[in-house]
Amino acid sequence: MLLKIPTKFWSLRLVAWLSICFSPLVYSNNIHYTVTTNKGLTQFRVTACFGNSQISSLAPALTSALRYISYSTNQKTIQSNRGKLIFASLLQNQCFKYQLDLAKAARITTQSNLHRVGSDLIISPRIWMLYPPSIKPETIIRVSFRLPPEYNVITPWKSIANSNTVFEFQNTPMQWPSLVAIGKFEIKKIQVKNSVLRVALIDQRKFKQRRQMYQWIRSAAQATASLYGEFPVKSPQILVIPIGPKKSAVPFAQVMRGGGLGAHFYVDENRNIREFMSDWNATHELSHMFHPYISKKDVWFSEGLATYLQSILMARGGLIDEQQAWQLMHNGFRLARESPHNQSLTEAAINIHRDKHYLRIYWTGAAIALIADFKLRKHSGGKLTLGSVLKQFKDCCMGDNRQWTAKQMMLKLDQLAGLSIFIPLYQKYSHSKQFPNLKKIYRQLGIKVKRNHITLSAARGKSKFRRKITGNKTKVIIPDNPDWHENGRDEF
Ligand SMILES: [Zn+2]
Repeated sequence: MLLKIPTKFWSLRLVAWLSICFSPLVYSNNIHYTVTTNKGLTQFRVTACFGNSQISSLAPALTSALRYISYSTNQKTIQSNRGKLIFASLLQNQCFKYQLDLAKAARITTQSNLHRVGSDLIISPRIWMLYPPSIKPETIIRVSFRLPPEYNVITPWKSIANSNTVFEFQNTPMQWPSLVAIGKFEIKKIQVKNSVLRVALIDQRKFKQRRQMYQWIRSAAQATASLYGEFPVKSPQILVIPIGPKKSAVPFAQVMRGGGLGAHFYVDENRNIREFMSDWNATHELSHMFHPYISKKDVWFSEGLATYLQSILMARGGLIDEQQAWQLMHNGFRLARESPHNQSLTEAAINIHRDKHYLRIYWTGAAIALIADFKLRKHSGGKLTLGSVLKQFKDCCMGDNRQWTAKQMMLKLDQLAGLSIFIPLYQKYSHSKQFPNLKKIYRQLGIKVKRNHITLSAARGKSKFRRKITGNKTKVIIPDNPDWHENGRDEF
């Protein structure tokens, strides 16, 4: 069917906005999007250029987005069919121009794709990035933003030549989600080891203690970097999004991987800094950056890794103490053990959104991660740890930007360790209805349990081994001073 263009669209102003432009040609297969927005962020105009590729069709990752994408054509050669724009004659050495009706999009799509926070905008490229059905791995995808004065954009993508507005996609599948935020916020650069986290507080006027929010992210990132001495990603995007009064400081958080890594924290901006510092969400989400995208049926593995790491890294970073870390882990293991076990771990993971057996899935995965960490240390005489093999994995394999199954990654971790630890755990537990038995490990780590409360043995042999895992850092005391930030430093 031919897409009908409303008459009003053909106003003089928009006639100049011809869909097919014959701009100077770039003889390559690279893709370049130029996005122009206005003050108030009501318009989103995109020019997509495909070099000398022959383009027969374009589609957004979210095909329903074509309902609020419009374009004009003086040739009427474009058909919209099943979420795709199909060109009657090939588009070659030309650019395609289109625009998003943001008001209409906001009415139709979900907040996860388009979210206005105050006067700032958070938008998913899945609703505005039109791309051809196949993109060669060597294709470079760049995105340039043209913003009104005083506006900033933050993406998870690599900045080109230190530009604040030109970015390059990592070569990930185009369907992988990401978020881009545009608005009048600052972008703080927080250095942790050799990485620089780019942090934006969205609708930042709502945050009364901005420096403390940066300190919260910095502390979680430092704790995360303590796993193997560096932060796992060079320059991740961090969004902190205020959502008003909620039952906890960070009710929801997520990591996205489209074109680069981003962590997004939806927060109750009125909470005290202490609540943020003791909340596990930031360390949990940043810990997801240690592993690649894991297939959904194996969510027990990715969530288990992050859940185990959140506990031990918060202790290493001084956000909680050793006792709290092991008590938190024990509570999680107990709740998982007491959860319904009528499905195997993999079945429960496949049905996670239907049955919501989150505790069982997350903490069974965490127990498997603890066993792996313990066995690696024991069988290597302390030379290998979960952290050390994840570092090897980063060096060999994280650049692939592809989806892994739990089995593939566990096999690779065994190969890197030169031991047979992960695959036997996969074989024993992935299709089992049983929670792993941790009694032997508790005994060897000097952890005793009485009425669900743990006590930690101070006996040297056991405490030494245990403290290798959780560290021995004193918990950071946060004073009642609203201007508090660690070390009085302000170079976030
Ligand atoms: Zn998670």
